[in-house]
Amino acid sequence: MPMPFSVIAEAFEKLERVTARTQMLLYLVELFKKTPAEVVDKVIYILQGKLWPDWKGLPELGVGEKLLIKAASIALHTSEHYLERLAKKVGDIGKAIEIVKSEQLKKTGGRAPGLLAFMSKPGPTGESTLTVERVYETLAKIAMAQGEGSRDIKLKLLAGLLAEASPKEAKYIARFVEGRLRLGVGDATIMEALAVVYAGSAAMRSIIERAYNLRADLGTIAKIVAIQGVEALKNIKPEVGMPIRPMLAERLSDPSEILKKLGGKALIEYKYDGERAQIHKKGDKIWIFSRRLENITHMYPDVVKMALESIKAEEAIIEGEIVAIDPETGELRPFQVLMRRRRKHDVHVAMEEIPVAVYLFDTVYVNGEDLTLKPLLYRREKLASIINENDTWQLAKGTIVSDVEALEKFFLQAIEDGAEGIMAKAIHDKSIYQAGARGWLWIKYKRDYKSEMADTVDLVVIGAFYGKGRRGGKFGTLLMAAYDPESDTFKSVCKVGSGFTDEDLEKLPEMLAPYIRDTKPPRVDSTMKPDAWVEPVLVAEIIGAELTLSPVHTCCYGWAKSGAGISIRFPRFIRWRPDKSPEDATTTKELYEMYLRQLKRLEEES
Ligand code: ATP
Repeated sequence: MPMPFSVIAEAFEKLERVTARTQMLLYLVELFKKTPAEVVDKVIYILQGKLWPDWKGLPELGVGEKLLIKAASIALHTSEHYLERLAKKVGDIGKAIEIVKSEQLKKTGGRAPGLLAFMSKPGPTGESTLTVERVYETLAKIAMAQGEGSRDIKLKLLAGLLAEASPKEAKYIARFVEGRLRLGVGDATIMEALAVVYAGSAAMRSIIERAYNLRADLGTIAKIVAIQGVEALKNIKPEVGMPIRPMLAERLSDPSEILKKLGGKALIEYKYDGERAQIHKKGDKIWIFSRRLENITHMYPDVVKMALESIKAEEAIIEGEIVAIDPETGELRPFQVLMRRRRKHDVHVAMEEIPVAVYLFDTVYVNGEDLTLKPLLYRREKLASIINENDTWQLAKGTIVSDVEALEKFFLQAIEDGAEGIMAKAIHDKSIYQAGARGWLWIKYKRDYKSEMADTVDLVVIGAFYGKGRRGGKFGTLLMAAYDPESDTFKSVCKVGSGFTDEDLEKLPEMLAPYIRDTKPPRVDSTMKPDAWVEPVLVAEIIGAELTLSPVHTCCYGWAKSGAGISIRFPRFIRWRPDKSPEDATTTKELYEMYLRQLKRLEEES
């Protein structure tokens, strides 16, 4: 049975209005119950505001605002100018299209006016016969139309779709095309809804999550669970060409505590300050995925060449850090230098100016063998056995230690050599690769341990305030939040107004513009009300003097003390982290643990 597109449009209308995450979950469950198993992947991609996972590297829709207005004007037989003006007045083109379409339907008793009347099938009440399959296929065709004449093809297809749609459907199609769906639905909530519908209980989310961690394509995973049931997900292995969600580290700033946590003995490695790269190889094809699982292969032709020359296995998935190096001395250069590569248009020029080296630290798959459940030293040996090392392609520098002095010495050497600190990793029997999870099997120990706040944190922008004085009328302070995976929400931690350069401030309005909202986004949890709400998307690294209790912030509210959350005193902006997604931000649990450690330290000192 095909699925009417109206089901999606109705669900979106409800989702758009929710203010609580529990309500969002209910609506998603309702939507999935009405979704035939064969199209659940498409419904999920549309919910995520995309046609396919980003890492596929397939073209985007390629429809700008102008083309959308033109298509709408053809479909509605209205002037572009009128639509543009109306869109300005009501806030967006989608809404404008919906209004015009509804009025026309009222006048014409169900049929769209003008030349395209013969194409439009809506009945007297404005119901359309559009299906999810047809909308998706048409949008995919629009995206795939490339090169000469593609603009006309895109225009025709989109106009046809908008003509055929009901007013409400047309609104969401237009918003999807514009990349402005902004439903604020997170992956974790989608997985929970899938668990309820297809696995019988929200508790089964962990099985779906494990499968998603090994193959980062929620559409495909949903289709497997919907068609074959949850049992089928239990046997999923990583697959070359499909990114696996990265394993992450906890943080500590006390070496003896680090060793204790890891069972007295650990592999310690340099923590290189560059870009994480998940490198996949199959025959003579190479893929490189970023920490956020974007396909960044095209940005690193030099790394592709190194991988082809130096990975001996036919099929492999390995992980390492790409670091900028000084071409003269081979010394490591900081993260910011590497990020300059992203800004250069000509990758070959960038490659010349900013050469890189790759330091490899793990492997999760080699020639059909899933290594994720194998202990670290087994994986490390496997990694060593399938690569040839040279100056710019090496195993991460590491050693096994069991005493604090040796760890400290290695740490100081790492800093001296330009690394950010060290990664200490468990090597016992259970030291598996925990895809997609932050856990105590890996612990990072970073350089900025001397400041009172032991480490920087990564927080998500959820709001903005207008500045005063020199910054009057412009955004000068941001409201920042930590991620709470349990509730899949972003909880406020602090307001940050210092640390920005004039250039940072200058760029703020443009950076924030696409994410500004009139009302609080549903996944944001904050009692403090900013001048403008911001959809939780942008991540920034923040440092402060110390963690404090605060009655106004919702992060860890009531955890350390009733009536108080955890906040940061004198927070300072350090840098943007475009390589992190909001769900990669520091979690509420991590902040709480940092707070407890700080308390312990203060107690010991006094
Ligand atoms: P950070 O903000 O400190 O870079 P993160 O949140 O990106 O951390 P974490 O898991 O906390 O990720 O820290 C591990 C990160 O450090 C990895 O994502 C990787 O990019 C980098 N890294 C550098 N050297 C190593 C190494 N030897 N082993 C593992 N990760 C390393």
